[in-house]
Amino acid sequence: MDTGVNIKENIAAVRARIAAAAQRAGRNPEDITLVAVSKTVEPQRIIEAIDGGITHLGENRVQELVKKYDAIPGRIQWHLIGHLQTNKVKYIIDKVSLVHSVDSIELAKEIDRRANRRGTVVNILIQVNVAGEETKFGISPDQVEDMIEEIRSYPGIKVKGLMTIAPFAENPEEIRYVFRELNKKYIDIKRKNIDNIDMEYLSMGMSNDFEVAIEEGSNMVRIGTAIFGKNR
Ligand SMILES: *Cc1c(COP(=O)(O)O)cnc(C)c1O
Repeated sequence: MDTGVNIKENIAAVRARIAAAAQRAGRNPEDITLVAVSKTVEPQRIIEAIDGGITHLGENRVQELVKKYDAIPGRIQWHLIGHLQTNKVKYIIDKVSLVHSVDSIELAKEIDRRANRRGTVVNILIQVNVAGEETKFGISPDQVEDMIEEIRSYPGIKVKGLMTIAPFAENPEEIRYVFRELNKKYIDIKRKNIDNIDMEYLSMGMSNDFEVAIEEGSNMVRIGTAIFGKNR
């Protein structure tokens, strides 16, 4: 299907905007990981994105990730960015580089259990619902330290940082505070140098708000629409 979307041009444009935002914030554009969100996108078009230099792909559904994992060749790092049910952990445990959406101790326990069984360690981010939206998953900012304290001793997981999905806003300036708040938490925890906690990634920013997110400290953006178009 010709959707009239030029994926490679879009990637170049997104990269340029990432670089400009990083520079405004006095940061190195190379320190920002671009995760192309390929949910609902056909493998053929995903391969076009890979030809355009994409090495990180994000999916929000377990089944779709597993299918594409098998269908798409190359050295891709897969990110699970959507809500993960405990009964589906077993399907992705050996496939993902990073699970962005750990939002309960129960889920962390199940990932740990499955990882131990396979003799592996799974990298995770804790999903935080900064704005307290009822429709979104994630723990509240003031629960983050307690959760970290509980799960840091689990041998099968490695906490690598924090993730948030900001509320949608026509004007992303309105949600700048969300990114700022999570960055503050991220830096706080990083400074504490907690054993087995490696605050390496702050995953925030989507097509509509990634520049503001980068200005506020994001080093991992998850971008779908700006790469693959609206009707993917
Ligand atoms: C779909 C999705 C994205 C990408 O959103 P776009 O607005 O299409 O860039 C990012 N993060 C999560 C968790 C998503 O589900």
